[in-house]
Amino acid sequence: MAEFRVFYNSHGTPEMYEMIREKTGAGVTLVTLDTDEDVERHAKIADCDAVIVAAKPLTANIIAAGRKLRLIHHQGVGYHDTVDLAAARAAKLHLALTPEGTTIGVAEHTVLLMLAAARRASFADAELRKGRWHVNALRPVSVELYGKTVGYIGFGRIGQEAAFRLAGFGMRGLYFDPAVTDPDPRSANMPTSFDEVIECADFISLHLPLTPTTRHIISREVIARMKPGAIVINTARGGLIDDAALAEALASGHLLAAGLDVFEGEPIGPDHPFCALPNVVLTPHISAGTRDALDHKMTALFANVDRFRRGEPLANEVDLSASA
Ligand code: NAD
Repeated sequence: MAEFRVFYNSHGTPEMYEMIREKTGAGVTLVTLDTDEDVERHAKIADCDAVIVAAKPLTANIIAAGRKLRLIHHQGVGYHDTVDLAAARAAKLHLALTPEGTTIGVAEHTVLLMLAAARRASFADAELRKGRWHVNALRPVSVELYGKTVGYIGFGRIGQEAAFRLAGFGMRGLYFDPAVTDPDPRSANMPTSFDEVIECADFISLHLPLTPTTRHIISREVIARMKPGAIVINTARGGLIDDAALAEALASGHLLAAGLDVFEGEPIGPDHPFCALPNVVLTPHISAGTRDALDHKMTALFANVDRFRRGEPLANEVDLSASA
C-alpha cells in the first residue's frame, strides 16, 4: 500500500507526538507542527491524506489547503464546534470520531471537579502554599456529595459514565436528554425535564455538544432559577454557559461553587473574572487529557485509519449528509 500521510492539526509537545507516532503502524507517516502558525499548517496539510483534529478547530481554510485530504479523524467526539462541517461536506470528506479513551477520562474529570468544587480544593491548596491554614474557615461553605441530587444535561456516553461513578457516592440522579430513553442501567438515573434539572438539582453537570441551539443553554435567566447554593460543573464545552452571568452568580453567593474545564474564548487568562473567585475550580480543557486516554484514542484512531486504507467501513463515522 502507498504511504498514507496523517496531519496532526493541533500544536503539541515532542513527547506527545512521540506517543502518537508509536501507534501509527506500517506505511503511515504522522506529520506534526513545529509552530502553531497557520502558514506552516497550510503547507504541511497540502500533501496529507488524513487529518487528526483535537482542540484546534479545522477551519474551511485549512480544509481547502488539504488538497489530497480524504479523511478527518477527530481525536475525541466534540466535532460540532471544531470541524467546519459545511466545508468538510463540500469537499466530500469522511469524518470519524474517537469515543475510546475520551469517555472515561471526561467522566473521571467530572467527579474530580465535583469533589474539588464542593471542598474548594483549589483555593485551600493555593492558600496553604501561602502559609494560610484554613482548618475551619471553609467548613460553612464545603459540602459532601452523599445524598445530594445531581442533574445531568446531556446523557450520552460521558453523562452516563459520570452518573455510574457518582451513584457510588450515594448521589441521586436526574437527567434531561430528549434522545436517551434507555440509558445504561448502571447509571440508575431518572429522566426528567430541563426545568426540573435546573430547579431541583444540587449539582448540575453538562454533557451535551455546543451547537447554535445549545449556545448559552445555561443563560443568566436559567442560572437565576437554579437552587440557591447549587454547584455547576462543565466538562462539555465553553459557550454552553454564559460565563459572565455564571461569574456574577458565584460572586453574589447565589451559587455555592463551580468546577470548569471549558470556557467561552479559550484560553482564558489570569485577568478572567473566574480567576478572582475562591469558589471556582478551573482546569485548562484537560478532561480527556490523560496519557491513558491518548493511548486508547490513538490505538482506536489508527485502527480506523487502517480500515479506511483497506476500503472497509469506518468505526464511529459521522454521516455528514445527515447533519446537513
Ligand atoms: P454523546 O453524543 O454520547 O452525548 C451527548 C448527548 O447530548 C446526546 O445524548 C444528545 O442527545 C444530548 N443533547 C444534545 N443536545 C441536547 C440538548 N439541547 N439538551 C439535552 N441533551 C442534549 O457525546 P459524549 O461523548 O457524551 O460527549 C458529550 C460532550 O462532551 C461532547 O459533545 C463534547 O463537546 C464534550 N467533550 C468535552 C471534552 C473535554 O475535554 N472537556 C472531551 C470530550 C467531549
